[in-house]
Amino acid sequence: MKTMNAAVLEEYGRFKWKQVDQPETADNEVLVKVAYAGICGSDQHIFKGEFHPRTTIPFIPGHEFAGIIAVTGSKVTGFRAGEHVAVDPIIWCGKCPACLRKHYPACSSLKLLGVDVNGGFGEFINVPEHMLYRLDPSIPLHHAALVEVLSIGFHACKRANVQKDDTVVIWGAGKVGQSILQAVRTKTTHTVIMVDILEKRLNLAKSHYSDIITINAGIENPVERIREITGAKGVDIAFEAVGHHTEIGGIVNPVRGCIQSIRGAGTVCVLGLGDEPLPLLMKELIWREAKIVASRVSHGEFAETIQNLEKGTLKPDALVTDILNPDKIQDGFMMLEKEPGNHLKILLKFA
Ligand SMILES: [Zn+2]
Ligand SMILES: [Zn+2]
Repeated sequence: MKTMNAAVLEEYGRFKWKQVDQPETADNEVLVKVAYAGICGSDQHIFKGEFHPRTTIPFIPGHEFAGIIAVTGSKVTGFRAGEHVAVDPIIWCGKCPACLRKHYPACSSLKLLGVDVNGGFGEFINVPEHMLYRLDPSIPLHHAALVEVLSIGFHACKRANVQKDDTVVIWGAGKVGQSILQAVRTKTTHTVIMVDILEKRLNLAKSHYSDIITINAGIENPVERIREITGAKGVDIAFEAVGHHTEIGGIVNPVRGCIQSIRGAGTVCVLGLGDEPLPLLMKELIWREAKIVASRVSHGEFAETIQNLEKGTLKPDALVTDILNPDKIQDGFMMLEKEPGNHLKILLKFA
């Protein structure tokens, strides 16, 4: 059997860059030579053992990656060696009530490459043909590796039904919040506000999108400020990408803050995977006859994301703070743990 190098999570909290067996490529699969892979918030949970027993060790994570096809299986018809591809990591069952309605992100047994089965933090990975998206070679491969995380933003926009001229607030300027910002800016030229308590994250967003308004919730009351900015009306759509239940600036929890941010008949779209229940005052929602929708992973938005990358309407470099060699993966995870304000997307560079 051939071997390759991969970043193996040998125990929770400890990666080792080491030689492993390279699995055989099945008839319906291609062997992708990974070029770049991104470290996601879910990977941080996997690293710390917080997804156990969904994840087991030893394990090779990595669900945000792109590369070049090295080998194609005998039944692969749509792709050939040498093509650049991004990989949609979602594996749905096809049988549950959500899948029967073709609503795959809500699959009751949804699995992801790199979460439930070995992923892209290695030199090579076998991927079934139907999970591949072709990219024009003019798109740099380190941008191609961001298609997955950017597609999360486009999916959230679809779930919230962002329209031209909508006003938007995004609570949370982390990787997800900034991906939403990129997608939102392809849809509306109107007011976009970002809320966070980490000034560096807000500045990062602002340095690439100078027309947004940022609110540091550690300094100002975000809800009051949003009402001021919108002439007391509230925004059309609020996205919650904070991901915990703690009150922001000691004032209001993120979801309730989103509800208080919107106009009557507005929409709140929640993405943050907090582990704690959080209190809402339902009449704040009912008086507005507002809508709360949830958004998880993406669903076909890879194509829309790639089109936008090709058109140059996105700013992929705005998401990336660091590019590391994969043997430095342990350092990458420690940087994210210790200095969350200084690092957004860390890419591992394989090729
Ligand atoms: Zn991810
Ligand atoms: Zn299903």
